[in-house]
Amino acid sequence: MIYENVLETLGDTPVVRLRNLLPRPQDRIYVKLEGTNPSGSIKDRAALHMVEEAERDGRLAPGSTIIESTSGNLGKSLALIGAVKGYRVILVVDPKTPQSVLSYATSLGAELDMVDRPDADGSYQAARIRRVGELLLRHPGAYSPDQYNNPDNPQAHALRTAPEVAKDFDDLGALVATASTGGHVSGLGSALKERFPSLHVRAVDAYGSAAFGHSFAPYKMRGIGLSWQPGNLHTRYVDSLHRVADTEALSTCRVLAREEGLLLGESGGAAVFAALTYAAEHPGRPVLAIAPDTGANYLYESYDDMWLAGHGVPVDVLWSTSRDLLRHVRSPLHPPAEPAHAGADVRTTAEGARA
Ligand code: PMP
Repeated sequence: MIYENVLETLGDTPVVRLRNLLPRPQDRIYVKLEGTNPSGSIKDRAALHMVEEAERDGRLAPGSTIIESTSGNLGKSLALIGAVKGYRVILVVDPKTPQSVLSYATSLGAELDMVDRPDADGSYQAARIRRVGELLLRHPGAYSPDQYNNPDNPQAHALRTAPEVAKDFDDLGALVATASTGGHVSGLGSALKERFPSLHVRAVDAYGSAAFGHSFAPYKMRGIGLSWQPGNLHTRYVDSLHRVADTEALSTCRVLAREEGLLLGESGGAAVFAALTYAAEHPGRPVLAIAPDTGANYLYESYDDMWLAGHGVPVDVLWSTSRDLLRHVRSPLHPPAEPAHAGADVRTTAEGARA
């Protein structure tokens, strides 16, 4: 297949069925591998759609500057888009950002602005947003996608990711998707509930995240969760919420790598753990988990025993075989529950985008 530029390789990501890591041998659990997108994560979809909509209505002029707060993957996506389309890209990052992400972004020509003082709650997210505000004042005409509130973020998934799922499945019992900005769970949830009327949407958050209104406490997983409730998290499309603990997600990552050959990022481990829990509760229903990125982003961090131990997770607290993990799946540390409901509708058409 020949493409005119690397951005055209976005999407049409593969879906792989689990073979061994199953509560029952007949269970149908599938994982959509968003790490095969051109910069290695699901954020390519939201980034490209936000940039193209801004180009379309003049908020982003040729050759201008894009400034965004990101703990990782959106920054890689914007760096790639900036390289292909000729924008200057300034990313506001923090010390939790994986080195591989920082190196990727700078290799593609993006500039980094490091926030080094955390907020009172120990997260850096609010500090990063404040810094974006300061940088926007210093760079008149610059565009900030604002992934937390920009409706083009969930819309990217309603318009592009959901049709891929609808093409792959005749029947789907549950969609299991992680949340940070809420972009993919909201966009996929809204569109797939139309296609599969009895679909159960299970959102997955990090235990410690405040995205669904719980109080914030620091956690280890990257990419998933938030220290406040984002505008793009539309819980009306969410039927249940599973708050997965670090040890559950990291254990799942390790077992998936060794027993399924699937090297997923930390949030992908959380999504698969939650999918296994759902499948254990609902025998016979096909379940799709979205794996937002590849474990290649974390090879020298959460896949490294020394690094993990140095960050407060000695490997002997993790489950290392599917047998141990599956026993735990039946009694997760924080059982799934209904979320508090909030949020507006996701736009499912491109027209009237900014009405
Ligand atoms: N996992 C990873 C690795 C991510 O980078 C993100 C986005 N920050 C998410 C999950 C959550 O995706 P969303 O922003 O669409 O809620």
